[in-house]
Amino acid sequence: MKDYYQTLGVERTATEEELKRAYRKLALKYHPDRNPGNKESEEKFKEINEAYSCLSDPQKRGNYDRFGTAEGMGAGAGAGFGDFGGSFEDIFEGFFGDFFGGFGGQRRTRPAKGTDLRYDLDITLEESVFGVEKIIEIPRWETCQGCRGSGAKDSKSIITCPTCKGAGHVRLQQGFFSVSRTCSHCSGSGKIITEPCKECGGSGKLRKKKSISIKIPPGVDTGIRLKVSGEGEAGSRGGPAGDLYVVLDVQPHPFFKRKGNDLMCEVPISFTQAALGAEIEIPTMDGQSSVKIPSGTPSGRVFHLKSKGVPKLGGYGKGDQYITVYIDVPKKLTPRQKELLEEFAEISGEDTSKGFMDKIKDIFGKEQAK
Ligand SMILES: [Zn+2]
Ligand SMILES: [Zn+2]
Repeated sequence: MKDYYQTLGVERTATEEELKRAYRKLALKYHPDRNPGNKESEEKFKEINEAYSCLSDPQKRGNYDRFGTAEGMGAGAGAGFGDFGGSFEDIFEGFFGDFFGGFGGQRRTRPAKGTDLRYDLDITLEESVFGVEKIIEIPRWETCQGCRGSGAKDSKSIITCPTCKGAGHVRLQQGFFSVSRTCSHCSGSGKIITEPCKECGGSGKLRKKKSISIKIPPGVDTGIRLKVSGEGEAGSRGGPAGDLYVVLDVQPHPFFKRKGNDLMCEVPISFTQAALGAEIEIPTMDGQSSVKIPSGTPSGRVFHLKSKGVPKLGGYGKGDQYITVYIDVPKKLTPRQKELLEEFAEISGEDTSKGFMDKIKDIFGKEQAK
């Protein structure tokens, strides 16, 4: 059986940091890019990766310590280690970025995916409930058609960089290591443009506005991100375009408040409707609905309309609508209305000459007298 600790040259008690450090050192030494054609270092490099991919995962390391394999009982050692041990640059990106400040040289000459874009889109509550198709205009960089992204006037105006002879990077001795640096003359591309494209001025890209149609499904809410693949910025050197993310913001509604998939609203009823009972018309997202108010309804009572809320996103069913009623007290009374209300109070045995605080004092006065 292979001893992963021995492979990395660490104690069985090594900390995560010690493992990482040991792996860094060995990966640097044996990476195939630094030892071209050397079968022995290639083998060694594989072993280092296998060992590190096991020991760097706490669960796999636990299994390895107990059962001698990363998979636990039953599996053979070394099986299924996933895709570990990427290219030299990938390892650098993950482990050495902080160490050397990045090795960009070779990476920059590769095709690169375009930048992802974010677009914030305001929609109404109605649009979030029923779904909508929107046309949005996004400003973005697109590949210049005049030069197909090369940035050069024609193929004759692209020459090999004389400084790096086309490699895109130059090697410098730095302490123990020979460090690769991006060629500053050609910015790592290995090529120099002698005469730039007139349309884009040599950048290979043009700023353009593009109209994109976005389908918003019913039931979306604020913060939902819709991904539109391939509609981000153009890629570099033939790389794929980035993606567009449309982030939704549902605007406040004058009547409804949304709570998850439910809709809340407040509806005024008159004193007589509350006292005598009534059937009132309530606006809902799909037309009017009637709600029965029983006699003697207090202010603040909540009524419930089933399935009049927001559809569940990507599922079946809808939320509900909740209606809180409040009694709308008239601010002005005609003499006749006033007369009738005073009569009502009298029949009810109320003393209208006394205010609320007087009544409170009466109550507490009696309590104390007991
Ligand atoms: Zn161009
Ligand atoms: Zn160069």
